[in-house]
Amino acid sequence: MRLLALPAFTDNYIWMLHDGVRALVVDPGEAAPVEAALQSQGLQLAGILVTHHHGDHVGGVDALRPRLDGPVFGPARERIPQPFTPLHGGDQASLLGLEFQVIDVPGHTAGHIAYFLPEGAHGAPLLFCGDTLFSAGCGRLFEGSPAQMQASLAALAALPGDTRVCCAHEYTLSNLRFAAAVEPHNPAIAQHRAWCETERAHGGITLPSTLALERQINPFLRLSQPDVVRAAQQRRPGTHGDVEVLAALREWKNGFQ
Ligand code: ZN
Ligand code: FE
Repeated sequence: MRLLALPAFTDNYIWMLHDGVRALVVDPGEAAPVEAALQSQGLQLAGILVTHHHGDHVGGVDALRPRLDGPVFGPARERIPQPFTPLHGGDQASLLGLEFQVIDVPGHTAGHIAYFLPEGAHGAPLLFCGDTLFSAGCGRLFEGSPAQMQASLAALAALPGDTRVCCAHEYTLSNLRFAAAVEPHNPAIAQHRAWCETERAHGGITLPSTLALERQINPFLRLSQPDVVRAAQQRRPGTHGDVEVLAALREWKNGFQ
């Protein structure tokens, strides 16, 4: 199995997984990058996984249907281009002989789901998490509450450390600038920032990340760390507990330049 990140729009990635013959894509916000990859590698499109309803994640679904020989999977509680196979947390989605586990991760949107593929012949575990978990950050709370996002991120953080985290946006460097403001003395943040700057300067990408790394650098997975709590309390005095810390961090990040 080969994993590819197809750049789309200005900072989206459409993840593609293929076995040399058949491919699946995740969140095709536009069709052209997917069509180009299918054509250049001689692949058939065997399925589409959708994490949530935003246009930059579903905008290419209908244009891809003529070349699609397989299902479109998506969150049962959201409006996804019809027809699609609706999924709930705890369901499985089968594609390319792989069994993806569906995890409910409300917060960015109300019905957002993530797809987790346990370790197997394809290698280390894979997580397609859309706009819920980003490297060094998390999605904005458009439809959900801080409590929902905290629970969603905690569920993802509990997955194995070697899980490859396939986020839908290249936001890592700006997230790391924020992470460094939250935790100025965290050496893992400084170190990863230097690595990402070099990668980006050479036209590379910073993903996939791993959950083990995210637990070290992502303030939204570090809500109980004393330095993170202190930083949140400086922004919002009286902040107490993981949910309130997340709410304070998220609000701070929304206005962070
Ligand atoms: Zn989104
Ligand atoms: Fe998005």
